[in-house]
Amino acid sequence: MISGPSGAGKGTLVARLVSRINRLWISVSATTRRPREGEVEGVSYFFLTEEEFLRLVEQDGFLEWARYAENLYGTPRDAVMSHISEGQGVVLEIDYQGAVQVREKMPEACFIFIEPPSIAELERRLRERGTEDEHAIDQRLLAARMELSHKEEYDMLLVNDDLDQAASELEAYVLHELNGS
Ligand code: 5GP
Repeated sequence: MISGPSGAGKGTLVARLVSRINRLWISVSATTRRPREGEVEGVSYFFLTEEEFLRLVEQDGFLEWARYAENLYGTPRDAVMSHISEGQGVVLEIDYQGAVQVREKMPEACFIFIEPPSIAELERRLRERGTEDEHAIDQRLLAARMELSHKEEYDMLLVNDDLDQAASELEAYVLHELNGS
């Protein structure tokens, strides 16, 4: 389970991780956020309307879900459970609120927090990415401060300063966890 503020570089690190360890499967979340350019339905996310999302909540279709920077995000339960039962390592890339819910249900899961070098650097990355307007950037910085205030609750804290180094540390940690379990 990997958390960290939007813009901390989780996506890049997770992509590297699964390219190196083939027993891992990345869960595809559902969201009510609009797709960014280049995002693919069913691969990046399942893009839902708020009504569709809330219907799934009512049907207990999510392992966890949360509102983040004014949009809803959730982990579809069935896909996660079937990959676990097939013996794969499942990677969830979710926020702190989701992590709390998963910890309740799966205390044996391993919780990793990806920390940006600083809030200023996070802001720079969010602006450079150019995918969010000013209001959304403000919302994400607010959410980032909340997430950072909980970083000590995670099993592993990884500062994404140097991408290659962070990727190697993450790989070593996950391999250790997979082999130990
Ligand atoms: P983004 O909009 O940048 O793709 O994601 C924003 C935030 O939502 C990120 O911190 C990401 O980890 C989180 N997120 C993505 N999918 C889920 C999910 O299924 N559940 C929860 N709780 N958070 C998610």
